[in-house]
Amino acid sequence: MKVFSSIVEWINKDTVGLYENRLQAVVLRCVSIVSIIYYLFITALFFCNDLNVLGVYDLAGIFVLSYALYLTYHKHVKLAFWIYSFAVVFMVIFQVVYVGWGIGFQYSLFLLMIILLFATYYSIYVKLGFAGGYGLIFLGLYLYSYYHNPYVVFLHNVDCYMSVVTIIYSFGCLILASFYFGAKNSEMEKKLVEYSKTLERLAFFDPLTGLYNRRQTVKFLERKVKDIEDNDKGLLTVILGDIDYFKKVNDVYGHECGDIVLKEIASIIKKTVNKQGLTARWGGEEILIVLPETDTKKAVELVGNIVDNIRKTVVNYNEHNISITMSFGVQQFGKNVSVDELIKGADMKLYMAKEAGRDRVVAD
Ligand code: GH3
Ligand code: MG
Ligand code: MG
Repeated sequence: MKVFSSIVEWINKDTVGLYENRLQAVVLRCVSIVSIIYYLFITALFFCNDLNVLGVYDLAGIFVLSYALYLTYHKHVKLAFWIYSFAVVFMVIFQVVYVGWGIGFQYSLFLLMIILLFATYYSIYVKLGFAGGYGLIFLGLYLYSYYHNPYVVFLHNVDCYMSVVTIIYSFGCLILASFYFGAKNSEMEKKLVEYSKTLERLAFFDPLTGLYNRRQTVKFLERKVKDIEDNDKGLLTVILGDIDYFKKVNDVYGHECGDIVLKEIASIIKKTVNKQGLTARWGGEEILIVLPETDTKKAVELVGNIVDNIRKTVVNYNEHNISITMSFGVQQFGKNVSVDELIKGADMKLYMAKEAGRDRVVAD
């Protein structure tokens, strides 16, 4: 039972590539494994009947199928499908030409068609082109077999065993592929939703601190400024903060420690601002807080709490206790001021806070 569940887990393993369809990989793995077992059986029958050339040819095919299986675990599901397809096509052609139409080797072409038509990667032209190609090979093999006798004639009902196994194999694989594609077609949708969430996160937030990124913050500020101008009322204040002597943290404890400190500071500020405004990573170790419906007085109160909370914080890194301070500049929005000028105002105040000795807030 344990062995069975680990095989199922191994087959169902997600694809490594972000853009790859797990379902496609799972179907390919299933049919590759079943095909390898089937071709091993057929190869054994070939060798037992002294059909060594066919046996060797199938062994090479099995090797190629195993390689396709391996590729589904290594970011190459698409390539794995083509390798699988070409191996199967060549084996089918060789087997039908030598052993004849009656065994049913050609049914494997239907399986290729199903996998191809359900694949999400290809354009409709590629799908129809290749599906038509498989159909033509099928037709060609039929006509060839109609006018030519097979090279090999089996004794002792070997061809009957071979047909039975081939039919079971072909239909089994078709059922397996249809089951997977039919029952689990929501898989790709789920993956797309996850992928778009990741894209959204990247578009809105800074990956290190989880704060809003600069681009979104500028957009937000532009909207707020426009609202105030259109309605001729409303308040807006921005606070620009910069960690004091942050370069020293990097120089003494390393960049990794700097990142940890930055994350911790970001988290403190975000928690303190909470729903009163938006917290963004403005640049390296600069943080911008946007406070709608807030005047300078209220903003200074809030930033006072932030300064206190940062002072109280000790970051532990490799048994070092690191204390940090931060300086802030507060600027309230005034009439006929652009977003750029608003930020410049906050930057000026921040500069004054640094000049005055850091670890402080400068406002009007
Ligand atoms: P001041 O008090 O004048 O602001 O001094 P400072 O050392 O903080 O300022 P400075 O501008 O000289 O150095 C800022 C440093 O911040 C330099 C840069 O390597 C570091 N820094 C910027 N972004 C990151 C980051 O994402 N991670 C880490 N670890 N360091 C960063
Ligand atoms: Mg700094
Ligand atoms: Mg700086």
